[in-house]
Amino acid sequence: MARILVTGGAGYIGSHTVVELMQQGYEVLIVDNLSNSNIDVLDGIEQIVGRRPEFLNVDCCDYVQMDSVFIQHPDIVGVIHFAASKAVGESVQEPLKYYRNNILSLVTLLSLMNEHKVPNIVFSSSCTVYGQPDKEHLPVDETAPLKKALSPYGNTKKINEDIIFDQAHACPQLHATILRYFNPIGAHPSALIGELPNGVPNNLLPFVTQTAAGLRSELKIFGNDYNTPDGSCIRDYIYVVDLAKAHVKAIDRMLNVKDREQVEVFNLGTGRGLSVLEIVNTFMKVTGVNLPYTIVGRREGDIEQVWAEPHKANTVLGWKAETPVEEVLLSAWNWEKKLRNIN
Ligand code: UDP
Repeated sequence: MARILVTGGAGYIGSHTVVELMQQGYEVLIVDNLSNSNIDVLDGIEQIVGRRPEFLNVDCCDYVQMDSVFIQHPDIVGVIHFAASKAVGESVQEPLKYYRNNILSLVTLLSLMNEHKVPNIVFSSSCTVYGQPDKEHLPVDETAPLKKALSPYGNTKKINEDIIFDQAHACPQLHATILRYFNPIGAHPSALIGELPNGVPNNLLPFVTQTAAGLRSELKIFGNDYNTPDGSCIRDYIYVVDLAKAHVKAIDRMLNVKDREQVEVFNLGTGRGLSVLEIVNTFMKVTGVNLPYTIVGRREGDIEQVWAEPHKANTVLGWKAETPVEEVLLSAWNWEKKLRNIN
């Protein structure tokens, strides 16, 4: 069976994708430097799948080590590139860390893929490339104009997309699928893998579950004076397992469908926008846990509202986000309870 190199495969979205790939019969090689992940995730994957993925502790920016990864694995037919630094706030404080990690890793991979004749890459991009879409572009589809990034992190996603298009133009043998994720949340239904935020979470869901678990005294909701029905921001929250399955579809398509564009872009979202308050209220309803929260001022750089038009992924990729948000929120809570030994 074909082998897929998964960079950042020990991370949040990466680990869920490794499970889905292995369950579909793919051989997987994870390359991860564990800078923002934990080696124990391999145990979780093994328990779910019944097989342990091959793992190498290598930094994707290290050309020499990555070269030997490709030399030792001539059966690699495709790469899914998750490995990246992803904290928006930190990227503002340490832009060079983000430009170095996120751009050098892709450039290194593309150079080595060219050298070792590996033709297929799936790249983790983000709806952040759309910024705040104009009203006529909501829900946002893949043809909406891209906006100037609000953070170095967001800019690395935009630059990496450009690098992929330029390299594909220069190398007709290269094929790429760019996946623009909306807001991934939740954990595997087994509660054996999930999100492991470093320190105080920046993202909404880990903050919600940690507050529910008593690690944080209250959730701060950033703004209720936006031009939305309840005044809080709107996002398209997508279940991480549904998202993982889209990567398998993308790889299947690259390996099996001849008639496709050299670079394809897909939005991965549910097509439904939910406000922060809707998430908080639904979380309390499905878990029965009280979530203390206060409304505070807006967070700098926040986008008011964005959600996906996922029609292209639904039809071309044959993928749809199907899991109800209630189930997704419950999976996030079950994972948090498991981490904190709460019954
Ligand atoms: N949010 C919030 N309190 C928090 C974290 C996030 O109110 O502690 C809000 C944030 O303002 C945004 C939404 O939750 O409207 C999603 O934020 P997140 O950082 O998870 O994703 P992003 O802003 O990158 O879409």
